[in-house]
Amino acid sequence: MSQKPDSIEADRGPLQRFLEDLHRKYQPLCEGHLANYIPELAKANPDWFAICVITVDGQVYTVGDFEQLFTIQSISKGFVYGLALEDHGRDAVLSKVGVEPTGDAFNAIVLDEHSKRPYNPMVNAGAIATTSLLKGVGPTERLNRMLDMFRCYVGHDVVIDISVFMSERTTGFRNRAMAYLMRNFGMIDERIDEALDLYFQQCSLMVDCRDLAVMAATLANRGINPITQERAVQPCYVRDILTVMYSCGMYNFAGEWAYKVGLPAKSGVCGGIIAVVPNQMGIGVFSPLLDGRGNSVRGVRVCEDLSTRLGLHLFDCQTSLLNLTS
Ligand code: GLU
Repeated sequence: MSQKPDSIEADRGPLQRFLEDLHRKYQPLCEGHLANYIPELAKANPDWFAICVITVDGQVYTVGDFEQLFTIQSISKGFVYGLALEDHGRDAVLSKVGVEPTGDAFNAIVLDEHSKRPYNPMVNAGAIATTSLLKGVGPTERLNRMLDMFRCYVGHDVVIDISVFMSERTTGFRNRAMAYLMRNFGMIDERIDEALDLYFQQCSLMVDCRDLAVMAATLANRGINPITQERAVQPCYVRDILTVMYSCGMYNFAGEWAYKVGLPAKSGVCGGIIAVVPNQMGIGVFSPLLDGRGNSVRGVRVCEDLSTRLGLHLFDCQTSLLNLTS
């Protein structure tokens, strides 16, 4: 097994101090609830809280419980979308999965009325359809290709939490219903159980907050992991991943997030959030207490403060970037 690579651990500087201030500011914020649709997620410690920023030149800034492992859940969706794009190209993937934001819940059993496609790759229906597109001879090869893709993003071998996978698999009736509905309309092929297993496996992948940041930093760095220099995705598809993250990545908070934070992002019921500052840095935040829309309460607040303080909003033409990383 490959080990986590060494990285340039940055000297304490203004950005490190700012992250520590944010951690101190929001640690006492105890609003929200733990995800409880499977017992494993409800076992999370509500105090867990980590922030990590990794720049495209490989500087790593961490604070809090950044080595605490958790399952990636929906944060996996954009990355698997990238692999499906590499396997089939934009047009073929678009014929099976749309790119329209939806005001419906992430697990709604609904398809686009006219095209019968799931609305986008960030809702469960779209993610299952995306996963079903992955190439490979048999389920093992498809799983290994997916794990290898995640290995490139995080820079070390990845493993699946088997008890989370088994729980997702035995209780995921809505996901199963969606898969059958999509099969009815020809959006996925006959290997329904296999596609669902792969989807549950991708959700059950174990990561820590530093992994989230390096995954985000890899997207910020045109698909090249800034620590290992390994390419995780072809650069031409980074814009597609970031576009759907921007418009659909934060559940039914995506519009307000785009307005306030202004960065492509994805969150998951694990309490993780990734945000990408193209050509600059990746941000990972982990704190399992969720708000009513399923986003980490502390995570959203940290990203709002980071965006405001560092002038990160993509469309902000007034704030000159405050360079805290030098
Ligand atoms: N495994 C979860 C599901 O499919 C993912 C939930 C999420 O993070 O949004 O329901």
